[in-house]
Amino acid sequence: MHSSKPHNNSPLGARGFDYIITGAGCAGLSLLMRLLQEPSLCNKQILVIDQIPKNKNDRTWCFWEEKAGLFEDIVHHRWHDIQFLSKQFSDTISIAPYTYKMIHGLDFYNHVIHFAQQFPNVTFKYDTVKSIVNHKNQVEVNLENETFTAEYVFNSIIFQQPKVPRGKYYLLQHFKGWVINTQEPVFNPSLATFMDFTVSQQHGTTFMYVLPTSTTQALVEYTLFTEQLLEQTDYKNALKDYIQNKLGITDYNIEHEEFGIIPMTNIDFPNCNGHIINIGIAGGQAKGSSGYAFQFIQKRTAEIVTSLVKNQHSFTKTTFSEKKFKLYDSVLLNVLHHKKLNGDTIFADIFQKNNPKTIFRFLDNDSNLLEDLQIMNSVPTSIFLKAALQELFH
Ligand SMILES: Cc1cc2nc3c(=O)[nH]c(=O)nc-3n(C[C@H](O)[C@H](O)[C@H](O)COP(=O)(O)OP(=O)(O)OC[C@H]3O[C@@H](n4cnc5c(N)ncnc54)[C@H](O)[C@@H]3O)c2cc1C
Repeated sequence: MHSSKPHNNSPLGARGFDYIITGAGCAGLSLLMRLLQEPSLCNKQILVIDQIPKNKNDRTWCFWEEKAGLFEDIVHHRWHDIQFLSKQFSDTISIAPYTYKMIHGLDFYNHVIHFAQQFPNVTFKYDTVKSIVNHKNQVEVNLENETFTAEYVFNSIIFQQPKVPRGKYYLLQHFKGWVINTQEPVFNPSLATFMDFTVSQQHGTTFMYVLPTSTTQALVEYTLFTEQLLEQTDYKNALKDYIQNKLGITDYNIEHEEFGIIPMTNIDFPNCNGHIINIGIAGGQAKGSSGYAFQFIQKRTAEIVTSLVKNQHSFTKTTFSEKKFKLYDSVLLNVLHHKKLNGDTIFADIFQKNNPKTIFRFLDNDSNLLEDLQIMNSVPTSIFLKAALQELFH
């Protein structure tokens, strides 16, 4: 890997860079890609630090998008139709103008790292970050035996699990996914099962994804929104049972397994502390009520680059719209946490009574007040209104 000589002008005596990116996962590498595609920033001295080389296919990202995105070249599969299944309502829905897309983690890491290798001003380092400290004019990043400084540090490392204050919620979205291969052609690669709530809801909000990438291959994922994790055998048994008894598949092999936990919370992850800018889940970019993060990370990293270009550095600005969607997230978390309704009923109501464009705009925090009202009107108003008042005035 190339690297040019970093600045040696740090008053703290450490090697200095313009920017240090701590954590080379989704947020760190999305930001790096955007910085390197911006002509006025691509020559900055950039240090990227992660504790491990990113050479494992440790996650699969799925998200919806209207147009081609920054990572279009590495989209592994696309669906224009999705299926929503629940005891109350089931349908196959065309999601135009959106497309549901899948990206493999390893394709993403390889793509960005390969692109960055053309830039001698980018240095990668594999080591554990111990702390990040603000000083007057620069930020210090401390590793076990080395220290680096930069004007800005973009951080996606969560150093400490945040404490949950009274009145806030911290649910977990946890899931195990298997990529399975079958002998016989059993899947329809044009149709993604977005949410199948017909599975047992004994633990709380629970659903399956089935994302076929060919007639003989699909990612099947067992997902729950609850406060406690299950035993690993519980996820496995649920997947086995679903594949055999709902999908009717007995002859298959598991090519790949992934497990994930994403916070679903309304606690504040500070997005900025002096010149330390938090990004990714550390910056609060996992949507509180859905756990979706990939597209929020894309939005945020694009905004950061725009701010840097304009030299405005307005990283902390919270808009009215962001506050509005935070309130909606809190209301849904309130309803789920206090078990006023189960998630399968809420999502069934929403999918039954709204068109997919409105739903996706709402889930993307892009909907206008009229669209918000349409969504709100489709769920039991008295329960949600009461929860909203609690969230506003607690
Ligand atoms: C299995 C899985 C599947 C997911 N699927 C989806 C999906 O389909 N759609 C969606 O929208 N979201 C999804 N998410 C949620 C979210 O998009 C991902 O978690 C995403 O990777 C978050 O990006 P991030 O940069 O915040 O964290 P990460 O990608 O986890 O990056 C953080 C990086 O920091 C490094 N690190 C941590 N501690 C240190 C340290 N002390 N020193 C140095 N480096 C350190 C880690 O090695 C890691 O590379 C999924 C999450 C998981 C876990």
